Amino acid sequence: ANALEIENLEKVYGTGIKALRGIDLKVENGDFYALLGPNGAGKSTTIGIITSLVNKTSGKVKVFDYDLDTDLEKAKQQIGLVPQEFNFNPFETVQQIVVNQAGYYGVPRKEALKRSEKYLKQSNLWEKRNERARMLSGGMKRRLMIARALMHEPRLLILDEPTAGVDIELRREMWTFLRELNENGTTIILTTHYLEEAEMLCRHIGIIQSGELIENTSMKNLLSKL
Ligand code: ADP
Ligand code: ADP
Repeated sequence: ANALEIENLEKVYGTGIKALRGIDLKVENGDFYALLGPNGAGKSTTIGIITSLVNKTSGKVKVFDYDLDTDLEKAKQQIGLVPQEFNFNPFETVQQIVVNQAGYYGVPRKEALKRSEKYLKQSNLWEKRNERARMLSGGMKRRLMIARALMHEPRLLILDEPTAGVDIELRREMWTFLRELNENGTTIILTTHYLEEAEMLCRHIGIIQSGELIENTSMKNLLSKL
């Protein structure tokens, strides 16, 4: 099955703004896909719809064959979302944050504790597990957001502008981390407005502009055209 299938997706906000004008998109299982486009192009709206935070106006969305209209809960289980803004409780500890997240997805507590060790170690945060999240550096907070998104073991990880406003050193560290995750089998979709980021990481790329997908191709193919 494909990780994601989108057919003729449209979004008109209550304000009358047409944010998406018929998007068609497939992302294969195991792919590393970048959705690139300027501010206001429709990237966040697309991600919001896939993660069911935003209602679509029309069109079809399937996540590993689960249709959002008919199998929403199953579809949600397949997806881990890393939003752009830090949205954890800064006064909770690192381990509480990831364990509680697993709880929301119905993972039993014992299993959640086991996974917290795995994913906090993988994110280089295990030593910090008893620290309150507010004490972490910016890079650690970003890794915490990713560890939290992995706790229910989603097959598709979606990151909204994962390195916006991040310095180049930290950006490289994040890239290495994401590449390893993808090599271990997680399908990744990220939005970015850095072509360099898409180029460094991604196998396929979609370029979105004014609510339309104006390019959808392999990174190799795109680079050969520039
Ligand atoms: P939905 O159809 O997904 O429920 P709405 O059209 O109701 O979305 O809008 C959601 C909220 O976001 C509204 O309160 C709206 O006023 C607000 N909003 C309006 N314009 C913007 C914008 N450009 N960016 C972010 N939020 C906006
Ligand atoms: P991007 O993530 O590429 O910057 P968005 O999906 O946030 O683009 O926005 C696409 C268009 O929809 C923009 O014109 C934006 O102002 C508008 N928009 C985004 N969110 C809302 C909202 N909640 N209500 C109304 N308009 C919105």
